Amino acid sequence: MKQTIKYKLNPNKEQEKHLHNLSSIATKLYNTDNYIRRATWKKCGKIPSWYSQKKKVLKNNVWYKLLPSQTAQEVCHNLQGNYNSWFKLRKKDEKARPPKFRRKEMLSPISFYQQFKIIEDKLKLSMSLKYRKEHNIKSLELNFNKWKTEKGIPKFCQVLFNKGSWYANIVYEVPEPNISLNKNIMAIDLGIINTAVTCDNKGNSNIYSGKQILSIQHYFNSRIARVQGKFTKQFPKRKWSKTLQKLTDKKTRQINQSLHTISKGIVNQAKKNNIKTIVAGDLTDIRKDNNFGKRNNQKLHSWSFSKLIQQIEYKSILSGIRFVRVSEENTSKTCSICGTMRKSNRIKRGLYRCKICSNYINSDVNGAKNILKKYLQFFSNEDRSIGNVAMPLVSRIENVIPR
Ligand SMILES: [Zn+2]
Repeated sequence: MKQTIKYKLNPNKEQEKHLHNLSSIATKLYNTDNYIRRATWKKCGKIPSWYSQKKKVLKNNVWYKLLPSQTAQEVCHNLQGNYNSWFKLRKKDEKARPPKFRRKEMLSPISFYQQFKIIEDKLKLSMSLKYRKEHNIKSLELNFNKWKTEKGIPKFCQVLFNKGSWYANIVYEVPEPNISLNKNIMAIDLGIINTAVTCDNKGNSNIYSGKQILSIQHYFNSRIARVQGKFTKQFPKRKWSKTLQKLTDKKTRQINQSLHTISKGIVNQAKKNNIKTIVAGDLTDIRKDNNFGKRNNQKLHSWSFSKLIQQIEYKSILSGIRFVRVSEENTSKTCSICGTMRKSNRIKRGLYRCKICSNYINSDVNGAKNILKKYLQFFSNEDRSIGNVAMPLVSRIENVIPR
């Protein structure tokens, strides 16, 4: 499993000069490569492949040689990728423009694969031969602003400049613990009023209220609306301001924090109850389910849901819990006791009421129970009741919707 951690870097003046230098070189390389590609395109209507570009032109290019080899290659790969998307676009839109040149003063991100190391709490970046000779420096050893320990193996590092600071995104390969399955399964239903509702086949159920997230949204949305109102009066032509960006960032951060608390709570609950499988509804169905929109007037962006699911998945795997998704289709329309499906999904005050068996239940708990049942349908032929579960067979995992 891969995990990316973003670090703020603390370069000294001298190091900052080098980072600045390397990023500018990356921009120059990008533009040089683009220039050659465009010229070839004009001449013969073809764009050279990455390999021929590298062989013929870039190998002896000054900018190419000043960067560590993989860093330089990544810049060109990046441009190649942009050309590939342009080609695709051209099939639909003849007027589509080829990739633009980067502004001269732009600082391009620089990537490292094998030419970086993390030594103690420093990031060491190796320089190319040419750069070493010209600047008399073998490597840069940068301090992190704040070290975050990580048990994984660092595989990739991207250094970039943003709003006055230098950052490093480091991708780690994190080993997954072995999972030994048992009969205990927990299902999760996601919603707006309740961010998450869990139930397991031992009869435990937990509700994680959405109140906090809703109030964060409400608070920031009204503040953003007020600022926007004043702003459009003052500057009718501009659409965005720093204040608005700050408010939006703050809102995202606070919602993220709440989501982390919830995902942590869910996985801790699972650990406490010795759950080895967590099942969640597949989010691709959320938009298809008409009921979903009607039930919830307040909008929670779908990214919050996918973010929450990603967090639960990640934390589950690290805790040795298997994580699966099943289709959410009809899980909110069906009665979890008798299986009757209602035409409409109108739910009053968050309660599901079944006319056939008079089941009267919190609608999200009903949803979670149905997700659990759905999962069990795939794994147990004999007994589909929630109370008594046969050991799920791992070999049949292909029946579960793939991610
Ligand atoms: Zn019923």
